[in-house]
Amino acid sequence: MARDTVIVLKSINYSEADRVLTVFGKYTGKFTLFAKGIRKINSKNRGNIQTLNVCDISFYEGKGLPLLTESQLIYSPDTDILKNRIEDIKRVLDILGKILQENDPNQKVFNMLESLCKKNFDIESVNRFRLIFLKEMGYLGDFSLCSVCESKSDLEYIDLISFALLCKNCYSKTGNGYRLGDNIYIEKKFTQALDVYIKRIIEEI
Ligand SMILES: [Zn+2]
Repeated sequence: MARDTVIVLKSINYSEADRVLTVFGKYTGKFTLFAKGIRKINSKNRGNIQTLNVCDISFYEGKGLPLLTESQLIYSPDTDILKNRIEDIKRVLDILGKILQENDPNQKVFNMLESLCKKNFDIESVNRFRLIFLKEMGYLGDFSLCSVCESKSDLEYIDLISFALLCKNCYSKTGNGYRLGDNIYIEKKFTQALDVYIKRIIEEI
């Protein structure tokens, strides 16, 4: 019997009583799990295994898909708040569905996703998560250098096409940057540019 702490990413009904889940485990990474009988009214696991819940689970690894045996709820996001953040949640689930590889654990990404669930997917946390996720997966460069001259100082601009940082000096030469404000993560222009950047990555995969 294996155990892990997981975040439920996807849940698909299968036959009358079962569900096929996609979960992201802290130590096991992303994997598919069969939840037999979970849709029955008396299932102990029924309320625990909802999308974006954080749970401790036990599962049996035999032939075929791993089989959920037990679960214990650790955290469930506020569904009333989530109802109004469907677009922002989709922004996160899309990259986890398409870019995150199966059976490739990443505790940094797991911990950030767990804290994102606890912050109910506010846009600032969503954008911070997306940037760090892309960096962890190798789709973003070094954020401590100017992407043109490699200077480490006066990094006050970001190129919203390549998502690379620019120093004050290079910005004035290329004119191709966006000034980093007090909190760029909540700016609509930043969110949209990141959407476009991610869409391009997903299309190339
Ligand atoms: Zn520079």
